[in-house]
Amino acid sequence: MNICEQDIQKLDAFIEGAKEIVITAHIHPDGDAAGSTNALLCYLRSRGKDNVRIVYPEPLADTISFIAEGNDGSFILDAAASPEECRRAVSSADLIFCLDCNSFARTGPLEDAMRSSSARKVLIDHHLAPDSGAFDLVFSTPEVSSACELLYNVLLALPDVGGDVSRLPQPSAEALMAGMTTDTNNFSNSVYPSTFAMASGLLGAGVDRDGILQKLFNEYRENRLRMMGWLLYENMRITDAGVAYMIITSDTAERFGIMEGETEGFVNMPLAIGRVKMSILLKIDGNGYFRVSVRSKKGYSSNLCATRYFHGGGHENASGGRLFFPQDIPSPDEAAGYVERVTGELFKEEGYV
Ligand code: 5GP
Ligand code: MN
Repeated sequence: MNICEQDIQKLDAFIEGAKEIVITAHIHPDGDAAGSTNALLCYLRSRGKDNVRIVYPEPLADTISFIAEGNDGSFILDAAASPEECRRAVSSADLIFCLDCNSFARTGPLEDAMRSSSARKVLIDHHLAPDSGAFDLVFSTPEVSSACELLYNVLLALPDVGGDVSRLPQPSAEALMAGMTTDTNNFSNSVYPSTFAMASGLLGAGVDRDGILQKLFNEYRENRLRMMGWLLYENMRITDAGVAYMIITSDTAERFGIMEGETEGFVNMPLAIGRVKMSILLKIDGNGYFRVSVRSKKGYSSNLCATRYFHGGGHENASGGRLFFPQDIPSPDEAAGYVERVTGELFKEEGYV
């Protein structure tokens, strides 16, 4: 990972001189967004920065809210609960960190406030296509598991940490491990040598990995598993080209009483089937669109699929986007037909079949 010394010096000076700091992440913050933002908040506070806030576009789902437990909740805002306070925090900040998010376009309701703020802006992210021009300082590489992994290395490089993991505040270390664990699906994808080095460093510093795994993977509500079973048994379709898709309509969401965050990881499951090359999960959102998750095996681009057909993007083998009705399809009933048509087109054009 190429983190240049000059950038670290610049970052250190930015932090030293900052009076009001805001940390943000992408809309529908996931475990990596939660882990990186909370790790940074805790580090900055340990450095004597009293005026630091995390400002999320939306609240953390209950399934990952434990990641924020190491921080006082009064330092964490979200634009759904307190839009005015969030906007004020952003407009009066003199330093803004954007984590696990490649562009302010991905901060939803905060986008305008972020763009028009005169604060210095720092990007720490691992998605493709970073909007580098919008930032004063950019740490960005897709060659890491997660934003947490990149942040871990940035923090270690700062002079006061000096490469010594034990100098990171314990809640920062815990949050970094939790975020990396979610983005790699517990070391099953996007794992690099630097990912194991990070895990080793954090374990050596006393992080309770067993406790994190318990909270991440063994404390779901029963509904989640019932719905997973139903989706795989009844709902999943697989095209001849090897694209599996599942569609969660409002009826399904109601039937299982599913809550935000409870479908996390479902999209990966069909990839366990040998002939499935790409998996797509569509989940209805109350605002007139499906949220779309795309995952793929090596050699098949989720990113192309999400960018071309779902107004989105992300990583090469894990991306997301949206499917709007009536703009993209006349009604939600047409979603299956749309998915089959566009993936058929993609697989043909890219020579996947
Ligand atoms: P997920 O399927 O878990 O929601 O998202 C998978 C990956 O794609 C994440 O890294 C996420 O940040 C990214 N992603 C999800 N939705 C969008 C989107 O609408 N636009 C872009 N550019 N990336 C997205
Ligand atoms: Mn991430």
